[in-house]
Amino acid sequence: MDEIFRPSPIILVALGIVALLAIIATFDDLGRKVIAPANNQQTTVTNATYPQEKKADSSSPDTMIRTIRGDTRSLSGKALTQWQNWRQQIETLAAQYPLTVYLGGPPGKKAIGLTFDDGPDQQNTPKILEILRQADVRATFFFLGSSAERYPDTVKKTASYGHLIGSHSFTHPRLSQSSTPTIAQEITKTDDILHRITGRRPALFRPPYGDANNTVIDELMKKDKYTIFWSFDTFDWQQKKAEEITAYLTEHVQPGDIILMHSAYNGKATVQALPKIIEILKNDGYEFYTVAEMLGVQGYRE
Ligand SMILES: [Zn+2]
Repeated sequence: MDEIFRPSPIILVALGIVALLAIIATFDDLGRKVIAPANNQQTTVTNATYPQEKKADSSSPDTMIRTIRGDTRSLSGKALTQWQNWRQQIETLAAQYPLTVYLGGPPGKKAIGLTFDDGPDQQNTPKILEILRQADVRATFFFLGSSAERYPDTVKKTASYGHLIGSHSFTHPRLSQSSTPTIAQEITKTDDILHRITGRRPALFRPPYGDANNTVIDELMKKDKYTIFWSFDTFDWQQKKAEEITAYLTEHVQPGDIILMHSAYNGKATVQALPKIIEILKNDGYEFYTVAEMLGVQGYRE
C-alpha cells in the first residue's frame, strides 16, 4: 500500500505544473497594480449642471473619456506589461459599445464620479457614507449581491443617502472565464437581492477585476445593463498610505473622470484619504455626480 503514496516523478511534475499555474494566477492579480502613464489631454472646462436622468441615446458617445489612467509605485516589468495590455484591451472593447460600455464621462464639464466597489460591509461602507454625507457629496456604489444579502441595512442606508447603487456581480468571479449561464446568474441574483432590499434593479454593472470580453458585454446588454469601468484608478486597495492616494489623485484627476475606489476591500486608506480628496477637489471647482448623472443614463430599471 505504501507504494501508492510514494510520489512518482509524474506526480511531482504534475504538482510542479499546478504550483506554476497558481503563481501565474496570482501574478495576474498583482499585475493589476500597474498602469500606463497619464493622458494629459487638455480640455475646456465649464461648470454646467448635469440633467437629472437623460436617455442614453441622446448622449453623445464621442464626448466620453475613453482611456484608463492612474498610477502606483509598485511597478515591475511583467506586471506593467500585463496591466498595460489589460487597459488596451478594455479601451478597445469599450470602443465597440459606445452607448452601453463606459470608462469615463464627458470631459467638458468639471465633474467627478466617485465609485466604490466590493461593498457593502458593516465597517468601511458606513464610514464612507458618513464622510460623503458630511461633505454633501453623492457617489456610486457597486455592491456585491452576496454582501448585500448579508448587510441589507448598509444597502438601505446607501440608497437613503441618495447614492446610486450598481451591481458588482454576486460572487466577484472573473466573468471572462465564466460560462454564459453563470454570467447571467451572477447578474440576475444580484438584481433580485438589490430589488428586494431597495425596490429597484440597478442599470449599471461593474465587472469584477475589470475583467470582461465580448461575451460578457453581450450578456450584460441582454440583461439591460450599462457596463461601467473607470477612467482613473486610485489603487486604494493596494496603496497603504492615504496621503499617496490623495496626492496622486488630486494632481492627476481630469474633468469627467470616473474614479475607482473601494468601500470594503482594504478600505482603511480609502476612508482616511476621502475627506481630503473631496476638500481639495471642491476647492478646485469640481462637482460630484453619480455615474448615471455623468453619463446621462438611467441609474435603475424599475
Ligand atoms: Zn471588485
